[in-house]
Amino acid sequence: MTEHVPAIPRLCRYLSERSPQPMVAVDGTTHIVSYVNPAFAELVGMEIKQLIGRPFSEAVPEGVENGCLALLDRVFHSGVAESSEEQEHRQTQPQSVYWSYFMWPILGEDERPLGVMIQITEATEVARFRQQAVAMNESLLISAARQHELKQVAEALSARLQVAVSARDHFLAILSHELRNPLAAISNGMELLKLAVGNQELVESCREMMDRQLKQMVKLVDDLLDVSRITTGKLELRKQRVELNSVLRESVEASRALINAGDHSLTVEMPPGEVWLDADPTRLAQIFLNLLNNAAKYSQPHGSIRLVARVDGSEIEVSVQDQGVGIPPAKLDHIFEMFMQVDVSWERTQGGMGIGLSLVKEFVDLHGGRVEARSPGLGQGSEFLVRLPLTSGSDKQNTIAVELPRGPQRRILVVDDNRDAAESLAMLLKMMGHEVRTAHGGEAAVSVAAEYRPMLVLLDLGMPQVDGYEAARRIRSQPWGAEMYLAALSGWGAKDDRIRTQDCGFDRHLVKPADIEALKQLIADLPSN
Ligand code: ADP
Repeated sequence: MTEHVPAIPRLCRYLSERSPQPMVAVDGTTHIVSYVNPAFAELVGMEIKQLIGRPFSEAVPEGVENGCLALLDRVFHSGVAESSEEQEHRQTQPQSVYWSYFMWPILGEDERPLGVMIQITEATEVARFRQQAVAMNESLLISAARQHELKQVAEALSARLQVAVSARDHFLAILSHELRNPLAAISNGMELLKLAVGNQELVESCREMMDRQLKQMVKLVDDLLDVSRITTGKLELRKQRVELNSVLRESVEASRALINAGDHSLTVEMPPGEVWLDADPTRLAQIFLNLLNNAAKYSQPHGSIRLVARVDGSEIEVSVQDQGVGIPPAKLDHIFEMFMQVDVSWERTQGGMGIGLSLVKEFVDLHGGRVEARSPGLGQGSEFLVRLPLTSGSDKQNTIAVELPRGPQRRILVVDDNRDAAESLAMLLKMMGHEVRTAHGGEAAVSVAAEYRPMLVLLDLGMPQVDGYEAARRIRSQPWGAEMYLAALSGWGAKDDRIRTQDCGFDRHLVKPADIEALKQLIADLPSN
């Protein structure tokens, strides 16, 4: 075949022999023919005479795998010159080097291809540069994908934020609605009282209405404070040995107003004998009060409600059932979530903020119990089941007294810069049979206490100039004040507030508005001299 490749003209040979670029000519069978330049021989590490007549693939073994032979074949058969990208070679150097090929056909007189001329260019730098460019491009692609991901996360967060914002707006709208209702009723009641002078029946029913509305507001504020305690992790139980029946009776009594308002009937089944729990009586009563109130709220008028308590092994199971609006199955799993309300058109008529059941669950959990909601579906009534662990024994000590003993008359000082608050509490205490004086500031509190020597001082904390803390400190620093019983009356009852009052010498910390039963108990507990 070699004879088919024409001889290289002398000038060309002269130029190529001096060219630093390796060059070699092959025939149609890819054997190296008469022409090889010294640069090529040096590149492949062989003598020129060794190369002549050898297959190109022996001089450049990687030619098959890196596509060089395929290019050669293409150029030979198409008769069209072509160049390749950088191709990797491991043949001569320990590290990879890259060559690029330029190939053009050697044509006979009749334009038929007789062979191929190959020119090789060292292209390691170009290859590295290209690899870096590809890597950079890939990382740009990756960061574009990452950006897309981040955008999606940001969109999801913004959607959640919007949900939270609209939940907050919804919450505030309901809150103002829920506060406005009792406020409007109380303000109407005030007007009514002015007109009802002499009409004892009207005065009495008006007073009852105002009392109900006030209780509703106090409960709402208490619930909101509990929510805030829960979310800030400050809710604490004050556990003691508690008899369940007395707690249930308390809850039933407190729910009576709502049950009567809906003309519902209530059946109560309590276990025989005493059932003892290690529990916080206030929170326990709140659990059953919320469930009973809901049963009344979510029943059509004249509904029937059942409260059944039974001992089940080491647990007590309390069930509150109604035949009211029921709960759709899809909502049952979420019913204890904060602000969750089933969308039933008339459910608002009795008020509510969707926090009662979440408090129930929180309180039950804190007592180591479980609560479960059941309902066959809308319009088919509901049942709430509370299970709490029992304590053994029937020791009556430390039980909560339901009936408060009537004690002796006490000398009491009520201090509050809000005159109405001080005077109304003083009136109440006087009606309980005690001797009472009032003071309207910290300074006055200390001087009245010095002269009057009360047994009990009910002291508001937030007052201008000398506040309740300072007044307590001053009273305690006097010889006559050491034994005086000091009770703080404050809007704040968190643990930190209680610690602070204790540090200032207070004996007790009551939360406003003072719970009359708690007050009665406090007075009954005072030493008897
Ligand atoms: P609120 O009654 O203030 O809306 P709750 O947390 O007590 O809040 O109750 C959440 C929701 O659960 C209510 O809005 C009501 O849709 C539903 N629900 C609670 N108790 C009952 C019940 N006994 N029957 C039917 N639905 C109830």
